Amino acid sequence: KRDANYVPLSPITFLSRAASVYADRTSVVYGSTTFTWRQTHQRCCRLAAALQSLAVSKNDVVSVLSPNTPALYEMHFAVPMAGGAVLNAINTRLDAAGVATILNHAHPKLLFVDYQYIHVATDALKSIVHVTTSPPLLVIIDDIDNPTGINNSDHLEYEQLVARGDTASHPPRCQVDDEWDAVSLNYTSGTTSSPKGVVYSHRGAYLNTIGLLLQWGVGHEPVYLWSLPMFHCNGWTLTWGVAARGGANVIIRSPTADAIYSAIDAHHVTHMCAAPVLFHILLDAPRRRGRRRGVVEVLTGGAPPPAPLLERVERLGFRVTHAYGMTEATGVVMVCEWRRQWDALSPPDRAKIKARQGVSAVTLADADVVNATTTASVPRDGVTMGEVVIRGSSVMKGYLNDERATAEAFGRDGAWFRTGDVGVVHPDGYVEIKDRCKDVIISGGENISSVEVEAALYGHPAVREAAVVAMPHPHWGETPCAFVALKPEFAAAGEVVTGQELVSFCRGRMAHYMVPRKVVSVDELPKNSTGKVQKLKLRDMARGLCVK
Ligand code: ADP
Repeated sequence: KRDANYVPLSPITFLSRAASVYADRTSVVYGSTTFTWRQTHQRCCRLAAALQSLAVSKNDVVSVLSPNTPALYEMHFAVPMAGGAVLNAINTRLDAAGVATILNHAHPKLLFVDYQYIHVATDALKSIVHVTTSPPLLVIIDDIDNPTGINNSDHLEYEQLVARGDTASHPPRCQVDDEWDAVSLNYTSGTTSSPKGVVYSHRGAYLNTIGLLLQWGVGHEPVYLWSLPMFHCNGWTLTWGVAARGGANVIIRSPTADAIYSAIDAHHVTHMCAAPVLFHILLDAPRRRGRRRGVVEVLTGGAPPPAPLLERVERLGFRVTHAYGMTEATGVVMVCEWRRQWDALSPPDRAKIKARQGVSAVTLADADVVNATTTASVPRDGVTMGEVVIRGSSVMKGYLNDERATAEAFGRDGAWFRTGDVGVVHPDGYVEIKDRCKDVIISGGENISSVEVEAALYGHPAVREAAVVAMPHPHWGETPCAFVALKPEFAAAGEVVTGQELVSFCRGRMAHYMVPRKVVSVDELPKNSTGKVQKLKLRDMARGLCVK
């Protein structure tokens, strides 16, 4: 029997609290548009009311295709507040076919579309009309700061919905019935297989948000810059997290170096997130030394950040915290918690420590690295590789309508979620991810971590990006093949760095069998819609180059 004082956990409760505790503090800044937490709360309540007047109710999916905008931020609260509907934020880097795949699977009742993505959405809708009886109702999001007037009488428009929301007739729900109810539906980026739908519960989202704020050490009044897309795991749950801290959301549509550095200067940004790929953008831009005020805390993750890259970024005045996560775990799985004793180390040694993925998230019950066959924990020797497995409140319940993939992911007894990532445990208990299971190179029976070889290549001053994949070999089975993009300034200065030179560079830094047999120079590495390197494509290319 539930206690009368029991309130189910939900991240939407952060909003009503923010409206009361931080009422007049800035909630959102977007160009010259600003809102306070009182206003954001009111706008979300009105939108929730308007959605309910359109017959949106519990468990209905509301999809949105939008870059970072105030509307996308508000929908993180307004959609679940509409009687318990479920937010599905779609990756804007997908093409119409990719969007259609998600729409066909998620069956949304409504589809909100930013004005710049109308063509993608309408193309996607054309291919789903045949399979669903009622296609989703389209709502256009015009630019709130600089309206284009694009909407016409054929479609609803976001601001009209906010304006017409009648909270007396359709009161928004600021609490949920059950903390296990769904709050959002996020699709994996499909780096190693086709995208799968992951349902986040209110409970999992709440716990992950609190845990991340705690482990990242987000204090009072953060000014958070949205350089990370909100569609990626709900902005690693920080959409809700900024409300919990009464922070200001500085929202930019596109994370260009200019937009990022200008926002940092103009708004005294204290925190931002950045996948390693964004570090290249920050590093390639003309230096802004002296203009920025104070240190900016940066949370990185989404792909392994090579130590030399971390070192370069920290030299620019960013203090990096490294986290490892995945869609299936509602975001963060591990954080490389910093220990004070490491402050005294040299910058390269600090970066090496920081490149490790760290210790389990506080809200997870457990994380372990196990032998895939025996399921025994690997020794803490920093060498023996095993698969990372996790257990706890923020792990998803399963993939939407995909029992086979769910059973595969949870392993034999269903107690542990298998991440598909290979790691080692160091003597201090910190985990270091060595690869995705599917990317490990097996050469003459030895496992080679592609991440380790890439990290060595990143140590070469001419290397901008590197990716290492398996290339078939008649004797060894597989050998490493490296794809490398060089820094433009090297090419511009007429300096030629040959593959042979990079091979020799690796020879001095790793065991012979790990050294790439081939180094291929490319202009840029192929990336998927969340900016991750497409190793499948590179493996295909490597197959064509293989040693006969
Ligand atoms: P997808 O698996 O389709 O790329 P996700 O966005 O959920 O979708 O990516 C999760 C995966 O990204 C992890 O399983 C891991 O392989 C990789 N990853 C995320 N963060 C890190 C990190 N800090 N270090 C190494 N790998 C990471």
